[in-house]
Amino acid sequence: MLPAAIATASLATAAFAGYHSLAWRSQLYGRTFIGTPGHGRKLALTYDDGPNDPDTQLLLDVLAKHNVKATFFLIGKYVQQRPDIVHRIAAEGHEIGNHTFTHPNLIVTSDSALRGELESCANSLADFGRGFPSNRTRLFRPPFGARRPSTLRIARKLGYTPIMWSVTCFDWKSTTADRVEAHVIRQIRGGDIILMHDGGHKHLGTDRRHTVEATDRILTRYKSEGFDFVTVPEMMEDLSS
Ligand SMILES: [Zn+2]
Repeated sequence: MLPAAIATASLATAAFAGYHSLAWRSQLYGRTFIGTPGHGRKLALTYDDGPNDPDTQLLLDVLAKHNVKATFFLIGKYVQQRPDIVHRIAAEGHEIGNHTFTHPNLIVTSDSALRGELESCANSLADFGRGFPSNRTRLFRPPFGARRPSTLRIARKLGYTPIMWSVTCFDWKSTTADRVEAHVIRQIRGGDIILMHDGGHKHLGTDRRHTVEATDRILTRYKSEGFDFVTVPEMMEDLSS
């Protein structure tokens, strides 16, 4: 048995490591882009875990109604199943990011498996989605926001910029548009990347109507307050200019 002091210390270390690998703003495990929270009047809407049916299509209708472009982090296995939706996302001018092929927890994924996940998702997008391998996405978001130091190092080596977020809406569980909207209102400062989900990593057809409805309300509210909705690459350009 471990002496109590050592056991406590190693537990504390494990908790610390776990916290920092999931904390979305933490830069401890490598640099990620989270927007420019607290600066400017720009906002970037991002959606994970699609393409999904029918909610991605309903979301695209809402974004078109407001003439806003968003950024979608797609799961490769769903891209293969619903290339038609991916075509629509790209055709309507939204940005696409790599969210791996099967949505594993990357804290416990080997380096070679991570490379495979990123490659398979990119190949799916090239084959089924965008149709132009040279247009491969440069954006990557780790599933669950989970990563360890080698995760980001490998993603960068493969040419990806890791993208996290500054506002989270807790819309990956069963909730309401009211609650999703309230989370956004509480956290927005300008310059934010907002994390939402148009799909679910467990299966296609996950109900995200609350996200679609909340998006409609968020766009109405913040456009009327003079905020400008941009894609993640547009927000990054701003930072470098
Ligand atoms: Zn995800």
